[in-house]
Amino acid sequence: MSALQPARGTHDLIGEEQRRFHRVAEVARVVAATYGFDEWQTPIFEDTRVFSRTLGETSDVVTKEMYSFDDRGGDSVTLRPEGTAGVCRALVSNGLTQSLPQKVFYAGPMFRYERPQKGRYRQFHQIGTELIGPAEPLADAEVIACGWDILKGLKVADDTVLELNTLGDKDSRDAYRTALVAYFTDHQAALSQDSLNRLDRNPMRILDSKDEADRRIVADAPTIGPYLTDSARAFYDKLREHLVRFRVPFVENPRIVRGLDYYGHTAFEFVTSKLGAQGTVMAGGRYDGLVAEMGGPPTPAVGWAAGIERLSMLMDAAPPAPTPVAVIPIGDTAEAMAIEVLQSLRANGIRAEMAYRGNVKRRMERANRTGARAAVILGDDDIANGVAQVKDLTTGTQEAVPFSQIPSRLK
Ligand code: ATP
Ligand code: MG
Repeated sequence: MSALQPARGTHDLIGEEQRRFHRVAEVARVVAATYGFDEWQTPIFEDTRVFSRTLGETSDVVTKEMYSFDDRGGDSVTLRPEGTAGVCRALVSNGLTQSLPQKVFYAGPMFRYERPQKGRYRQFHQIGTELIGPAEPLADAEVIACGWDILKGLKVADDTVLELNTLGDKDSRDAYRTALVAYFTDHQAALSQDSLNRLDRNPMRILDSKDEADRRIVADAPTIGPYLTDSARAFYDKLREHLVRFRVPFVENPRIVRGLDYYGHTAFEFVTSKLGAQGTVMAGGRYDGLVAEMGGPPTPAVGWAAGIERLSMLMDAAPPAPTPVAVIPIGDTAEAMAIEVLQSLRANGIRAEMAYRGNVKRRMERANRTGARAAVILGDDDIANGVAQVKDLTTGTQEAVPFSQIPSRLK
């Protein structure tokens, strides 16, 4: 029988990879907490409408990437492709729309039916923050600063550039849309079918196209700047001032529109040149309309999400493998004592492992191979004297230590 493989686009996290992964989530969790974010966990699957109503009917995610299916009761459910819609749904479901601000951190798996490649999977994982309530550009700057501090905490900030844009308010976008439709209509012969489909429904989406021919046309498309209303421009000016105060470096990129439809005003991406085509590691923006789409009152909000896999790949050194203490009993009475020693080490927070099988030499070899930093060797004679041999496996020195002192000696 042939061995079963993981489903396409999924991957197992084992050893060094899992340690990197854990590190990313943990650093993010700790930094986000210093900004006052509390962790939420929302379900991994939701009513399909949570996403179909909100992410935009022309977005890639909704048109071709969702894992949707009818469950046994005939309800359409979808494995969450991103975290923000679920958080906004939860805000409304839990009656928290009158208890603002809510500052949410999350970490967990997301699912998109994509063509797997380096840095792109069907089950991937994100960390993210959402600051729900404040309408001020200071909130946008703070959320971005939090992301930047996480990148610094992971020592990958130097490999990334913050690209910033504004999508303006509704009036700005309406005016801009007219200009874009005029421009793309002039060039429609060269546009991809996807982009042609978007021309009427959501021309800004074309700016995000990954198609080569589209990108050449996009390069000369009008930018939103001239179409911004005075208040949208003032918002963007303030945001940039605040980012300078937070000491977050950025460049402006008028092509950043984001892959999901719910954004307005701020849109940003932290990008890197070190991961090939999958260069965006963290991305977000302001989404003041989303909570209302979820059936709540109009509620301003801003946030970002980052791919844990891409951040793990960017990280330099993986956290080191743990170094246990190996406990090696010689003989049957020693085995009983070994259990005592193991449990006293563990009770003191020391990683301790039983050396199973084989003679002393074999067990020592195995302890060395698994990276043990010390061995506690228990022989019958020593036990009679109330001691064990504690061997430091890095220096090779060995000494007899009374049982009660073993944990403190190995701390
Ligand atoms: P891309 O342009 O790379 O498809 P996106 O615009 O679809 O990204 P978002 O929905 O903004 O991405 O998700 C935020 C982050 O989540 C991305 O910047 C990336 O780090 C990560 N991400 C998104 N899709 C995947 C995936 N299929 N596999 C791994 N990471 C992903
Ligand atoms: Mg995508």
